Amino acid sequence: MATSTTFQQAPDTETLRAELAVATRILARHNLVGMFGHISSLLPEDRRFLIHPGAGSRKDRCTPSDVFEVALDDEWRLGLPLELYMHSEVHRLSPQVRSLVHVHAPALTQLSLFSEVPGEALVFNAGFWPDVVPVYNEADLVRDRSAAKDLARLLGDASVALLRWHGAIIAAPTVRQAVVRAIHAEENARLLLGTLSCGRPIIPLPRENARREIYERIATDRHLSSYWLYEASLVELRPETKDTVSE
Ligand SMILES: [Zn+2]
Repeated sequence: MATSTTFQQAPDTETLRAELAVATRILARHNLVGMFGHISSLLPEDRRFLIHPGAGSRKDRCTPSDVFEVALDDEWRLGLPLELYMHSEVHRLSPQVRSLVHVHAPALTQLSLFSEVPGEALVFNAGFWPDVVPVYNEADLVRDRSAAKDLARLLGDASVALLRWHGAIIAAPTVRQAVVRAIHAEENARLLLGTLSCGRPIIPLPRENARREIYERIATDRHLSSYWLYEASLVELRPETKDTVSE
């Protein structure tokens, strides 16, 4: 029987810091973060979070010591991602979201241009895709706290929201799930664009509860753990790298 993926015990900050560095390198390998895009990890006491550095940093070389620790009320400072506040306000409004990914990925961005964004999930692993995808309609980056609060409210309980002309955010109860969901969100967007352009009827996954049940059967702890270990093995740092990365 499928089980939800949550930590049995709250992990310590250094474990989460190492995990976030691996997560950043995995997302970089999939071209989901680079010059743009970021991932955060809410710390156990719900008032602080971890996030990797902003635009100028090499995400494919991210180490634990590169990761910033930020309080929800902290103001942006040099070195942090410009759109920091989307993480602050999503984690504040929805602390069950332990990890948030923001991407400027091409397929998700292209999908955001549709006047009505498709709510179809086309593969089992995208069973978290919302039946109704929230779309943020501001023609600007999420550069202040007010805009971030609007985005957090728009996301609500959904796992994905699109930002028109811009990209997407992906929410999850763990860093590992956030990474895997981000990979499959971009995959689902790419498949939607491809199948819709064929102009032929499609048979997507069912919607609502049936879709969630399918996803729970697929996205088990065991599945996510093996997926994570595989992806992490592809982004191991060279031994001479200063920081070690733990599992
Ligand atoms: Zn952005």
